[in-house]
Amino acid sequence: MDRSPYLRTFGKDSVPSWICSSCNAGQLKLLPESLITKWTKESTVVWEEEGSEPEWIKMVFACVFECSTCKEPYSCTGTGGVEEIQYEGCDGYQQYHEEYYSPKYFEPSLVLIDLPSNCPDAVLAKLHDSFSLFFADAGAALNCARASIEALLTNLKVNKTEVKKGQRFGLTLHRRIGNLPAKYQHIKDSLMAVKWLGNAGSHNGKAPTREDVLDAYDLLEWVLSDLYANKDKKLKALARIVNRRKGPVQRR
Ligand SMILES: [Zn+2]
Repeated sequence: MDRSPYLRTFGKDSVPSWICSSCNAGQLKLLPESLITKWTKESTVVWEEEGSEPEWIKMVFACVFECSTCKEPYSCTGTGGVEEIQYEGCDGYQQYHEEYYSPKYFEPSLVLIDLPSNCPDAVLAKLHDSFSLFFADAGAALNCARASIEALLTNLKVNKTEVKKGQRFGLTLHRRIGNLPAKYQHIKDSLMAVKWLGNAGSHNGKAPTREDVLDAYDLLEWVLSDLYANKDKKLKALARIVNRRKGPVQRR
């Protein structure tokens, strides 16, 4: 999935290719009559001052998008501003100002990775939590992505605790990933990387960015596809073989 549209702002006449999470096919179209904007109190004051610039204006907005295919509506809220657009016209160098809007929340939330149909519900729930926070809080979105790995490990029957000297201890995510059986060796590196990205979302220091969250999504998408989509394909292929033979698969 091309995730570059999820790093962009939108304008009245330019909406990135955001994919509908309901039908996974249509794109979100802005219903222009639904867009409401209001300048912040500070912007209103600053605008009255001499020498103020349009780029100083900050605003909040609310609007509704609709899927071009299935017509599912999406409410959206966020913040906005004004930017200068420069272009070379027939009369030479020209410029104009245009409002842009930066989404914080979508309801329902957008889905940012391809999810196999048989992905476990507990993993899906954590991923949907992450998607709903993606635009508003990259650190919190990473935390939820990290939590989806905990749910995934539980689904893969990796213990959450261990008993030492008669006492039960909780295992860290790091240890749980290390305890994956050998047949999952190939996904350990990816899970560990998502764990590190998730840690960055929890700890102080440089705040994580949306690009960091998209890195975690890329890794998770590959892992989920490997674990569940491929299995899906294998089972469909098996069903095709059995049906064609009208009986068991021939084995040597
Ligand atoms: Zn749709």
